[in-house]
Amino acid sequence: SSKRHRISRIVRHDIALRESEDHKARMEAGLREALQRNRGLRLFIQPQVRLSDWTMTGGEFLLRWEDPELGSVPPSQFIPAAEQSGLIVDLGKWVLDQAVAWLAEWNQGAVVPGLYGAVNVAAPELHDPAWAEGVLERLRRHGVAGSALEVEVTERVLAGPEGGATVANLQHLRQAGVRVAVDDFGTGYSSLAYIHRLPIDSVKIDKQFVDPLPAPEGTTPLASVILEMAAGMGLETVAEGIETAEQGEALDAMGCTYGQGFLYARPVPAETFPDCIRKWNARKA
Ligand code: C2E
Ligand code: MG
Ligand code: MG
Ligand code: MG
Repeated sequence: SSKRHRISRIVRHDIALRESEDHKARMEAGLREALQRNRGLRLFIQPQVRLSDWTMTGGEFLLRWEDPELGSVPPSQFIPAAEQSGLIVDLGKWVLDQAVAWLAEWNQGAVVPGLYGAVNVAAPELHDPAWAEGVLERLRRHGVAGSALEVEVTERVLAGPEGGATVANLQHLRQAGVRVAVDDFGTGYSSLAYIHRLPIDSVKIDKQFVDPLPAPEGTTPLASVILEMAAGMGLETVAEGIETAEQGEALDAMGCTYGQGFLYARPVPAETFPDCIRKWNARKA
């Protein structure tokens, strides 16, 4: 291409870069403010169902953020910004405080026996050797059993630096009955050589392996390979991003236990969860 074209491309690239840096800085400032004033952050939860009978058994807590100037910002943008700035540690504490308080309330209301909630945890949180103790302290304070809480970590977190503190934190939680799930399983860095040594209870099959289901006759979908492997290691399985009945049926037939996706329910504000789950399970019964 001509020199002029090359230069204009470089300039455009530079502007895009500056705009994204600016956006990141604004998100950081906004998040800091949101945490300080406890304003604009809101916890949602997306139900999970048992694939064999569609009973809602629990859900995954998902954070939502609305900034006065930026409007509602998706987690795919503000979570990475929070991770890079270190704000994720305080954000994670906010999420855990809320989640454990909701679990306490729901278990008192006996919404569903054995109801649990899963919380997403980022790498920097797990690098603090005292993190797990902080989680257990919250559970004790609210009188919530460890079995009511699940934590989701990505493969990248498990394979990353400071693996020692990370593994120790997860082991500590598991001794108290908290379950550990590997999120976005199959998309990261896990090598089959070490996944069986990790302190985990379940794997969440990523949406990218659910999308191509049901697989054409005579082919073996990656989802089934992952499910076989999980079964062989005694791990529980959850599939995410299920959007069609055919996908849910295929996963059930391949031995996946739990499912999550728009087919069943979108994430709902945490305060509406008991109502949502009671209505759903009553309609089904
Ligand atoms: P994730 O943990 O893998 O969460 C699942 C994401 O898939 C959620 O997006 C959920 O709304 C979306 N999803 C669920 N079912 C379907 C479906 O059927 N179709 C489609 N297209 N999407 C579906 P969300 O809430 O936007 O969150 C995105 C990511 O942000 C999460 O991915 C998680 O990595 C992160 N995140 C969200 N909340 C938190 C949090 O409190 N802490 C941390 N550290 N990360 C969080
Ligand atoms: Mg998750
Ligand atoms: Mg996931
Ligand atoms: Mg995902």
